[in-house]
Amino acid sequence: MGLVDLIFPRSCLSCGNQGRYVCDSCIKKVPSPKLVCPECQRPSIDGFTHIKCKRTLSLDGIISIWCYQGVVRTALLKLKYAYAREIATEISVYTNSQLDKFLIALPKNPTLVPIPLYFLKENLRGFNQTEILGKAMAMRQTWKFVPDLLLRKMLKKPQAELKGDERKENIKGVFALNSFYQPLITNHQSLILFDDIYTTGSTLKEACKVLKRNGANVVWGLTIAR
Ligand SMILES: [Zn+2]
Ligand SMILES: [Zn+2]
Repeated sequence: MGLVDLIFPRSCLSCGNQGRYVCDSCIKKVPSPKLVCPECQRPSIDGFTHIKCKRTLSLDGIISIWCYQGVVRTALLKLKYAYAREIATEISVYTNSQLDKFLIALPKNPTLVPIPLYFLKENLRGFNQTEILGKAMAMRQTWKFVPDLLLRKMLKKPQAELKGDERKENIKGVFALNSFYQPLITNHQSLILFDDIYTTGSTLKEACKVLKRNGANVVWGLTIAR
């Protein structure tokens, strides 16, 4: 416990119980979503993309750990503005035990790549919450973590203002591979693209296309919530 915790004791963002921002009993109430194929949205065992749905540049599968509700929702909203590292560290303890269920499906010894924010937006707020969450999770799983593998250009419009097909169009061409990491991809390192929330999947799919176009072999998607 640090000095800050003595002066401002942590309390659960959902029930108010003291000790943590995300307490055991509140997180247990949040269900996990059914795993679905990222291409057709129909149920899929372990989150794999169905063989018949798979295209050359498709994700190999996708896993979302919790439904976007309860304390998970509150915590993901809160950490955009405050206590980001503390909340991310707490969440990573829970994701660590949840991920045990998916380790058969997920690639072995992967590199976790968080979806980057456009740099101006990131600088205004001071940090990228997806990167902070991803780093905490990767450390706990002892996965490699490369936050600058993907570079991002500016979006024409904020994704939040758009619906399904418009989102897909808006995000086209927005990512590029940081050429410094080409050897990592050429050496067949398996990659897990990470985002905090799965909405339409268009961001993860677009990022995956860039990685596969540059030679990536296995690319999964992973999000905290859906
Ligand atoms: Zn609670
Ligand atoms: Zn499918």
